[in-house]
Amino acid sequence: MGISDLILMRNCRSCELPGTLLCERCRRRVEDTVVPQRLFAGSLPVHCAVRYESTARSIVLAAKRTGAAECVAVMARLARVALADCLDDLAVDGRICVVPLHSGAKTRAAAGQDLVVAVLRQAMKGLPAPRGQVQIADVLQIRPNRLQQKVLNRQQRAGNVTGNIRASPRTRVQGLNAVIFDDVMTSGATLQAAARAVSARGGLVRAGVVVAYRPWICADLQGRRVSG
Ligand SMILES: [Zn+2]
Repeated sequence: MGISDLILMRNCRSCELPGTLLCERCRRRVEDTVVPQRLFAGSLPVHCAVRYESTARSIVLAAKRTGAAECVAVMARLARVALADCLDDLAVDGRICVVPLHSGAKTRAAAGQDLVVAVLRQAMKGLPAPRGQVQIADVLQIRPNRLQQKVLNRQQRAGNVTGNIRASPRTRVQGLNAVIFDDVMTSGATLQAAARAVSARGGLVRAGVVVAYRPWICADLQGRRVSG
């Protein structure tokens, strides 16, 4: 244990084991059991790696609050599973743009980076090849009150995000296949708003991809899970 470990009080965020923010056993428990889920946000198919609970939740929270590299790396590996599942499912020829839903200011300050973008960049690096041309399209402009989504109910959420997410006119998405990427899906309202914004610029939004979904809020979406 180094001096920085002592200062930061590094304990596994899931089981409290000292010396690391994420112990091997907890990391494995999450990564080895990933089966990508296909849910819906409205009519948008969404590919998710894990449920936002227990160890997976601890890892995401630690990444948001500290930007810890080991937790960001786990999120990236989970994101890669969901992204690969999405690309398999899409099977479109030509370019696919992955559009990140930027982290809010609070997370950016705590994690020292735009966590959603950092996770997506790492996830893309390890994508199994060949998958055609997949690239990140930094298109979305998000107003700050996106941060308060988690305290709102479903109806309030939908209203809150409408008009708060725009696609930049400077970045061309016209006629391009697009996938919206976020870290955690709550009601799906934010993904839907992002999809509308990209569609408004002529982008062809095919799906959403998230690391984790909140099962108690997305429960009614699970009934519409796509089989196979
Ligand atoms: Zn642990």
